[in-house]
Amino acid sequence: MPSSHRIAVVGFGMAGAVAAYLLARDGHKVAILERAASLGPIGAGVLLQASGQEILRRLNVLQRVADHAAPIDELFARQASGRTMNQTRFADFAPGTIAYGVHRGVLFTALQELVAKEKIDVRSGCAVDAREVASDGTVTLIDAAGRRHGPFDLVIGADGSRSRVRDTGGFDARVRDYAHGTLWMIAPGEGLPRRLLQVVKGPSRLFGLLPLGDGLVTLYWGLRHADYPAIKARGLPALKEELLAFAPEAEGVLSQVHGFEQLLLTGYRRVHVRRWDSGRVILIGDAAHAMSPHLGQGINLAMIDAWRLAEELRRHESIEAAFAAFQDRQRDYIRYYQHVTGFLAPFFQSDSKILALGRDVVLPLLPRVPWIRRQMAMTACGMKRGFLGGAIEI
Ligand SMILES: Cc1cc2nc3c(=O)[nH]c(=O)nc-3n(C[C@H](O)[C@H](O)[C@H](O)COP(=O)(O)OP(=O)(O)OC[C@H]3O[C@@H](n4cnc5c(N)ncnc54)[C@H](O)[C@@H]3O)c2cc1C
Repeated sequence: MPSSHRIAVVGFGMAGAVAAYLLARDGHKVAILERAASLGPIGAGVLLQASGQEILRRLNVLQRVADHAAPIDELFARQASGRTMNQTRFADFAPGTIAYGVHRGVLFTALQELVAKEKIDVRSGCAVDAREVASDGTVTLIDAAGRRHGPFDLVIGADGSRSRVRDTGGFDARVRDYAHGTLWMIAPGEGLPRRLLQVVKGPSRLFGLLPLGDGLVTLYWGLRHADYPAIKARGLPALKEELLAFAPEAEGVLSQVHGFEQLLLTGYRRVHVRRWDSGRVILIGDAAHAMSPHLGQGINLAMIDAWRLAEELRRHESIEAAFAAFQDRQRDYIRYYQHVTGFLAPFFQSDSKILALGRDVVLPLLPRVPWIRRQMAMTACGMKRGFLGGAIEI
């Protein structure tokens, strides 16, 4: 067992919570520095895939999460005209495989309870803003209020797609904001089929409906950020009418929308970092590799990062060796999902009519080839190892 380190985990999201818990359990002295003044879940419903389920199973909280989640068998996409465009069944990866539609709050609560079991110093209201590196390599973090935290033997930047740890830490990063985002809401709703329903039209119209468990449903509507003021000006009845024409099954949810304040606009960005470590600092989760949510993999990848980083820190005496081994293990896997997501995003949300036409023609044909059908299912389950090879072993 390597020596005990003083570790700062910046960000109490999915990646940070799992990493902090595992490292504290391994005997390290762990502090979580979180920007939010009070801890709690933010964000919409998410799809918990087989890969993320495996991490929760090992953490002994999968059943607890599943009890408040909706089992999902497939991704089902159709055109607004009603024509089926894609049906990816998770069981085509391995019989019995399902995903879960789950409110982010359910996941967060389960992870927060794990963190509470260990002696972890949780410092909320600390927006990490800068770092100082001493001659012995240890790192002191400075928050936006000027308070100093540390020194730490290593720092894990799990502070999401807008990571300050990344932006102030000398990382070679390329960041791109998408022009399109999502308007979404969570509302009571029952009786929907066990699927993520997506309805598309042209290059930029994307509707989604996902059961979440506990009698909840999440609904989302893709749009260009720049178009939102015009959508608001047209008024809520016009928007609801448009959505109903796309998906009549959304009627129950839409009947509960009475004002734009019930809808939340979310943007997404793409982050590509050449190396995830810089000195004694390493990035995980969205801080290292944020991507658009079109494949719904972000929380799953974030938790696998945390699991594998903790494993490599257990295996190696030196921090540098652990960082290198972690990146060797994750590189192909993460790069695969970055490339596939980056490739797919403009087919579903862009201004290109040609891409949309290509999608409408080609996508329905792909699953007819059994090998491709299985690769699509494996990818959707978060289990594809890389461009080469089959399923990952987590
Ligand atoms: C609309 C939408 C839908 C999505 N749907 C899915 C889905 O279905 N399935 C899926 O797997 N993923 C989905 N994702 C992606 C998923 O939400 C992210 O990939 C995931 O939350 C990343 O986890 P993380 O822990 O790396 O970062 P985050 O969850 O973003 O957590 C980062 C934490 O760091 C804190 N922080 C930020 N800056 C600082 C700072 N300077 N100092 C201290 N703390 C800081 C934040 O407050 C936050 O608590 C979706 C994303 C979007 C936008």
